Amino acid sequence: MNFLEERIVKDGIIKPGNVLKVDSFLNHQMDIDLLEEIGREFKRRFAGKNINKVMTIEASGIGIAAFVAREFHVPMVFAKKSKSINIEGEMYVAEVESFTHKNKNQVIVSKKFLGPGDHVLIIDDFLANGCALQGLVSIAESSGATVEGLGIVIEKGFQIGGKVIRNLGYQLESLAIVDAMDPDAGTVTFRPQ
Ligand code: 5GP
Repeated sequence: MNFLEERIVKDGIIKPGNVLKVDSFLNHQMDIDLLEEIGREFKRRFAGKNINKVMTIEASGIGIAAFVAREFHVPMVFAKKSKSINIEGEMYVAEVESFTHKNKNQVIVSKKFLGPGDHVLIIDDFLANGCALQGLVSIAESSGATVEGLGIVIEKGFQIGGKVIRNLGYQLESLAIVDAMDPDAGTVTFRPQ
């Protein structure tokens, strides 16, 4: 097991509905030493890539992406969830359905912060059905930027998102891939990497 898998076994909580709660160390209270290690691991996995921007989606991607961007010494930009509709023109827009909240949000990135010269690494905390990542890919592509890769902290391998993104031809790196979770036994099975 790698450092993240060990932490998931120690502190992750399996909830009904295929939800893994990691809010004691990743997306409510954040373990900063763990985030630093996550940042270093993504730097290692994407070391050969010419990355000049890290991109994520609010809210839980932001803390993680900040540590990744620090390793690459590049800016980080996050897609904002927005309710306003009259924003086209200055903004790239995508529609994203939330896995955890079951609602749809428009997410936006200002045209000031993303464009054809950019080579982006997309980062998020979880990958489930892939809606969040597809929204970020769509924003990056409509800006003319190049997607150099996608980094996920925890991929739920029994949901479709990983397959969809890999089939699109992108380099997708997940630090832990959960292939099964048993809420009754409290056990998690990881895909060997
Ligand atoms: P997707 O768009 O791939 O269906 O879902 C990814 C998004 O939903 C992530 O940004 C994450 O915030 C949230 N998410 C999906 N599954 C889980 C989960 O098992 N636990 C937590 N904490 N968040 C999840």
